[in-house]
Amino acid sequence: MSSSLATVSYIVATILFILSLGGLSNPETSRRGNLYGIIGMTLAVLATIFGPHVTPSGYAWIIGAMAVGATIGLYAARIVRMTQMPELVALMHSLVGIAAVLVGFANYIDPAAAGQFTGAEKTIHEIEIYLGILIGAVTFSGSLIAFGKLAGKISGKPVLLPGRHFLNLAGLVVVIWFAGAFINAHDVAQGMTPLYVMTAVSLLFGIHMVMAIGGADMPVVVSMLNSYSGWAAAATGFMLSNDLLIVTGALVGSSGAILSYIMCRAMNRKFFSVIAGGFGTEGSAAPAAAGAQPAGEVTAISATETAELLRDAKNVVIVPGYGMAVAQAQHTVYEITKFLRDKGVNVRFGIHPVAGRMPGHMNVLLAEAKVPYDIVLEMDELNEDFPDTDVAMVIGANDIVNPSALEDPSSPIAGMPVLEVWKAKISIVMKRSMASGYAGVDNPLFYKENNRMLFGDAKKMLDEVMAALRS
Ligand code: NDP
Repeated sequence: MSSSLATVSYIVATILFILSLGGLSNPETSRRGNLYGIIGMTLAVLATIFGPHVTPSGYAWIIGAMAVGATIGLYAARIVRMTQMPELVALMHSLVGIAAVLVGFANYIDPAAAGQFTGAEKTIHEIEIYLGILIGAVTFSGSLIAFGKLAGKISGKPVLLPGRHFLNLAGLVVVIWFAGAFINAHDVAQGMTPLYVMTAVSLLFGIHMVMAIGGADMPVVVSMLNSYSGWAAAATGFMLSNDLLIVTGALVGSSGAILSYIMCRAMNRKFFSVIAGGFGTEGSAAPAAAGAQPAGEVTAISATETAELLRDAKNVVIVPGYGMAVAQAQHTVYEITKFLRDKGVNVRFGIHPVAGRMPGHMNVLLAEAKVPYDIVLEMDELNEDFPDTDVAMVIGANDIVNPSALEDPSSPIAGMPVLEVWKAKISIVMKRSMASGYAGVDNPLFYKENNRMLFGDAKKMLDEVMAALRS
């Protein structure tokens, strides 16, 4: 393939990626957005393999690597459960990070790559390598810790080392100092030591940054690492002088940054303290241990009583959370919704921006169950309607409906806007036990006078509610 055809293919792929992002911004167009992304990526891969930078002698290596990668990817995608998706995404981010690190090292020691540049160009290329490895290493180790936290393999509690800001600052000074040593190195052998030191410091920084973040603040970390992975890919693009990788990386990096900003707003956190790491813990008491002890008495309710309340209601708001994803109850939720709407009940859904375990988690599940988009509302659109709501039905959600976020300044989730379901005439919380949610905080909602608890697996209980409604 000639270099001009490869360039045209890259431009078309770039346009498809932009259209893909545009499509993914709305549930109604997201399938199309996905399709654009798939076509764009296929075109990008083909144009790169058959482009001017790959000689036919490299094909066997590329095909072999693609076969291994595709097999692992296909296997992972097939076995992953919907509830494990956030962990898989975190793991994928770590792969982008490690790729940037490996490409950086390979690029530095490859005599052919190094020989291309002299003078100022050589210095710029070395800065690209240094930055690429730095961002890649932070992304790699940070994403692995995020994976561990999301998968429950590492405790969600923030680990706050004494003098952690000082440690971060010291790390930054070391990295800047060794950048000078790296650029002034006379040969590759001399440049390797600063590169190793910087990589080690960056890996430690990634671990330290994510370990310092408390459970409820993880959504911001997930989107922030998404952004970092984009910048790591863009840095790889600079190292390889590949325009498409630069553009694609920048698209992912900036859209991830916008998502982080949206998540910060949803959690009421400051963007810059997120970037510095270790946020969300200042000014609040030590976060409660997972499964904090409940206090007070709760009123349990049966599926039949729930069905009666729903049947008598005029306005119903359903608030789904992580438990709905675990129970895979979205289809039954929609059956109940259809049934009630056919009877003239106004049923709407209230979506918290950090509900579930990944941005847009609930929207994806409801779209899968074919819930019409016009009855799925954002938290801000719905919060003031709760006083006019007869029944607010909380399905497997906990932190996102916790009044202590608004009422208790010492709570680890203090300041986070929540869906104010307790303002409805009756709220019903559907969950299996009194266990706390991801943030490990007890929920005073359960003990409110107008709250009822429907204990059991969300899918099982909703099936029973549906049966009771029909009978
Ligand atoms: P929570 O984790 O706060 O609560 C979920 C509840 O679901 C649990 O209390 C659990 O209680 C219940 N549950 C679990 N399985 C079932 C089941 N089979 N049937 C019925 N109930 C079940 O979830 P929320 O959605 O309310 O809040 C999301 C939390 O996750 C926030 O703290 C957020 O910060 C965090 N987070 C969000 C991310 C995102 O991007 N959206 C990423 C990372 C973290 P029980 O065990 O008693 O059944």
